Amino acid sequence: MKALGPVPAGYGSLGGVLAVGGRAVTEWVEEAGGTPLFLYSADHVRRRVAELRAALPGRVALHYAVKANPFVPLLGLMGTLVDGFDIASGGELATVREAGLPLDRVSFAGPGKRDAELEAAIVAGVTLNLESEGEARRALAVAERLGIRPRLAIRVNPEFDLKGSGMKMGGGAKPFGVDADRVPALARAVIGAGADWRGFHIFAGSQALDAAAIADTQAQALALAARLAEESGAPLPHCNLGGGLGIPYFPGDAPVDLKEVGARLAERLETLPDALQGTAFCIELGRYLVGEAGVYLARIVDRKVSHGEVFLVTDGGLHHQLAASGNFGTVVRRNYPSAIATRFDAPVEEEASIVGCLCTPLDKLADKGGFPRSEEGDLVAVFCAGAYGASASPANFLGQGPAAEMLV
Ligand SMILES: *Cc1c(COP(=O)(O)O)cnc(C)c1O
Repeated sequence: MKALGPVPAGYGSLGGVLAVGGRAVTEWVEEAGGTPLFLYSADHVRRRVAELRAALPGRVALHYAVKANPFVPLLGLMGTLVDGFDIASGGELATVREAGLPLDRVSFAGPGKRDAELEAAIVAGVTLNLESEGEARRALAVAERLGIRPRLAIRVNPEFDLKGSGMKMGGGAKPFGVDADRVPALARAVIGAGADWRGFHIFAGSQALDAAAIADTQAQALALAARLAEESGAPLPHCNLGGGLGIPYFPGDAPVDLKEVGARLAERLETLPDALQGTAFCIELGRYLVGEAGVYLARIVDRKVSHGEVFLVTDGGLHHQLAASGNFGTVVRRNYPSAIATRFDAPVEEEASIVGCLCTPLDKLADKGGFPRSEEGDLVAVFCAGAYGASASPANFLGQGPAAEMLV
């Protein structure tokens, strides 16, 4: 039997059935008109934001990285909870607009921004996190043509990365950001061109669980920001310190020690160098805010045995939950937390693999896990589905189409 990842805190049952938002998931499935279904718990997100606010220094604003989950009702909820939003495409700009979010609190990072995207952002008053000198030239040209003073920041490609992070986004040659040694010259050029200078964006990695590594990276980001601000010769209005807080997906993973991250950041902010005394700070988080708030539900269509192994074949699969299948940036496939939702309190009775309905051996949601014995009609739950699920999976593969999504 292979271990399953840890079920996130805060999940319980009603009448033996997994409950979300105070109701059994079977009721939500009925309300949604069937499976597969992504359920996102508003309470879970609210609690998570409250924990962060309590742990982080008040001076550090909280931004949501829309890429993690752009479901419009969820964005609406985030609008009541966080201070700003980070987008990474013109499509996400349209989505935050649709969600009615205040566009002057949105910043736009991401390589390969087209002129039309730059224009839409500048018109909307969105801050552009410039990814290169070339992008800076194009943004300034677009702004001049429009007669608008653009809000510009520079994304820095730092010389360090976030240790232990699942996805490194800094250190060495990268398509992201401007190499640190070229940032001061570009900052002077952008300020000299009359832009509304918004400062730096320093993002070094993602999905880290080690509080010490996160704190070290934040300290390095602060030191780098101070040096670059001094060399730029202008006050630094704002600095996005990145994010990187991860969630436990796999057996043996433990949650980030948030208190330690908060305490060490507070310490640093008390002894800021002169160059950063007037700077406003934020961190940007995606999965940490919403990942554990989501559950993916699918129904067992077929229970079959092959060569003595049990396969629970569901109406869902990797076309909705690519990451859980191990095909979204993982080296070794390991099991996400999963359960039989309709037998949530039952003991483990057998080894079974939960698979999807796609014609590929990649379509595995749980490999040889321990589950209560279940039958056709039972619901399976895959946890940690609130981030990089629906929008990061190939919904149209094999003509399956998207899953329903609900915020409850
Ligand atoms: C992907 C990304 C994020 C969000 O990462 P999470 O791991 O979901 O917190 C934040 N900022 C930038 C620049 C990103 O590319």
